[in-house]
Amino acid sequence: MADVRLKNVSKRFGESKKNDAVMAVKDLDLDVADGEFLVLLGPSGCGKTTTLRMVAGLERATSGEIFIGDRSVNDLPPGDRDIAFVFQFYALYPHLSVYDNISFPLRAQNMSKSEVDEQVRRVASRLKIEHVLNRRPNRLPSGEQQRVALGRAIVRQPQVFLMDEPLTNLDASLRSEMRVELKHLQQELGTTMLYVTHDQVEAMSMSHRIAVMSMGVLQQVDTPLEIYNHPKTLFVATFIGSPPMNTVACKVVDGHHLQGIENTFRLTLDPSYANRLANTKEVVFGIRSEDARLVNDDSAQLRGTVAVREPLGDETIYDMDMGQYRMAVKTPPRQIFRPGEPVGVAINLNRIHLFDRVTGQAV
Ligand code: ATP
Repeated sequence: MADVRLKNVSKRFGESKKNDAVMAVKDLDLDVADGEFLVLLGPSGCGKTTTLRMVAGLERATSGEIFIGDRSVNDLPPGDRDIAFVFQFYALYPHLSVYDNISFPLRAQNMSKSEVDEQVRRVASRLKIEHVLNRRPNRLPSGEQQRVALGRAIVRQPQVFLMDEPLTNLDASLRSEMRVELKHLQQELGTTMLYVTHDQVEAMSMSHRIAVMSMGVLQQVDTPLEIYNHPKTLFVATFIGSPPMNTVACKVVDGHHLQGIENTFRLTLDPSYANRLANTKEVVFGIRSEDARLVNDDSAQLRGTVAVREPLGDETIYDMDMGQYRMAVKTPPRQIFRPGEPVGVAINLNRIHLFDRVTGQAV
């Protein structure tokens, strides 16, 4: 097992002097600890796959250095990096049996036949695919194909697993089953995992830490709950969470009053905010839907009418029409309001988020 370190790594596609050059990854510093499950999360095109491919050796970094354990791997071909890569598309050999697909990396290592057999059966048993060892992978359901791809990755006991959206092609129920399986597998094997996804549920539920990227730039690396509760940028705040965090662009008036720039939003914060906001003229105010309540008493700081009601069973989300802005509020399932009904919104002032409107950084 080994840690993975990226030091000031950048990747540019195309010539820097030409207009079609793309900076896919910019000055990335990232340490993945030995045995850690780290998820690279971000929207399509943010540079996460390119980062993974540079660690794998499938792309060469334009600048910076990559270490796996003590070794700088910039000049090592993929086969010498002691990593196993699992893709969204399983990349199994269709003309080989499941057994031969899993044993393939071991046979390349010149292992004896009996040793290979023992390893393949151990992995197949762990992944519950012993019954399909003689079948061709392309005739199997997608969940089993994915297990075969995992089997081929883990059989070699590499130092690091690199996974690129491995669950994307599975249907929803299989995906949630495989999330638990993968997490369990990584815990059991203790192998360092660098895992790419655009799915925040995968990132939140499986990882030790999440690295959020946007437009080639690392935004924040933290535990899932720290990312959720203390986002360092407006991008992270609105990318993580469902429904997304409610946000309103505001002017700061007299240090601790917020006034909507393009709407009627008004909120008074504790006077102690005056210090924090001393140098900030405009902020983006943020509140998560579970940190506001719908009330019919004078604890409400804001008022609106119910626009849309979304009952989800365990909770209900109300989309509140607040005049010139909208706000989503989560309520317990048995608190019922009708569309069009006027209701107060009470904000939990201990759970608000403020971001500099220009830089997007938390203030
Ligand atoms: P996705 O989930 O869609 O794959 P991503 O976050 O993994 O997105 P990357 O695939 O790393 O993003 O792409 C980052 C940027 O680099 C994008 O603008 C992409 O178009 C560009 N890019 C990626 N590979 C190449 C390439 N081989 N040549 C030119 N540009 C590329």
